[in-house]
Amino acid sequence: MERRTGTEELLSLKGKTAIVTGGAMGIGFGISQRLSEAGANVVIADFNKSVGESAIKRLSSEKSHFLVTDVTSESQVQEMINAAVERFGSLDILVNNAGIYPAKPVLEMTLEEWNRVINTNLTSVFLTCREGARQMIEQGRGGKIVNMGSVDSVKPWAVGLAHYDASKHGIWGFSKNLALELAPHRILVNVVAPGDIDTEGSRSDGTAPTDLSSQQIPLGRRGRPDDIAKVVLSLVSPISDYRTGTITVVDGGWLLTSKGRKSPT
Ligand code: NDP
Repeated sequence: MERRTGTEELLSLKGKTAIVTGGAMGIGFGISQRLSEAGANVVIADFNKSVGESAIKRLSSEKSHFLVTDVTSESQVQEMINAAVERFGSLDILVNNAGIYPAKPVLEMTLEEWNRVINTNLTSVFLTCREGARQMIEQGRGGKIVNMGSVDSVKPWAVGLAHYDASKHGIWGFSKNLALELAPHRILVNVVAPGDIDTEGSRSDGTAPTDLSSQQIPLGRRGRPDDIAKVVLSLVSPISDYRTGTITVVDGGWLLTSKGRKSPT
């Protein structure tokens, strides 16, 4: 009979190694913090060297590591997995969080703009999941993958984000099929779908959904990165050992309402 996990162990990640893409700031940094506090070795894979290095200092953990990585590059994704395993000996948790959300109506969108969003948000998830799952299968002790969707995985937030919505719907479809493919290897694949979260990206990008008034959100406030990080922690820890192929919406109840913005531009 399998040993029953003690309640105090349910959120422990001691001995596990996690990669968080786009983990240097915003939601990704919140996730990196929670996973680190739960005892995991955390590898932050992100674009920006100086932001990444200061993120590692803020984690104040010797068990964290920063890798300059562009998740749209097949070779850099392979290097990311290899470097994490070289540094900490295994890969147990993969959080695909890196993403962009530049708004542009379809009628004005270039092919280049379309490809940039699809490559960054969706093709990158294919690459990291393929490479990460190969490594987890070789280790032979299962694993946990969380892909960052959005409320846009199920319902448009605003006009002007058709490429973004295609990528986030794609993440949800991809993750369901991958959950089936990887179940025999005990690799669990789930999606988290944030609503309006106050991050560096959503604050600095004038096209991001920053102006949704708190009154439109049933819980009365915008989300914080830690609102998402706590849910990700629960999905990658032993508390969720029988959960795969699911989407968890974390939006303060916004999807329950019919309100959305007309256009972000
Ligand atoms: P931020 O822009 O605050 O942070 C994203 C991080 O990902 C940045 O450090 C960014 O680096 C990095 N990044 C972007 N592209 C790449 C790449 N190709 N390779 C490696 N790193 C990359 O974003 P948020 O925290 O707001 O969003 C994180 C995720 O959550 C995204 O997938 C987003 O779609 C999703 N989400 C966010 C919502 C929100 O309201 N904030 C709502 C719903 C979903 P750099 O800054 O150098 O580009």
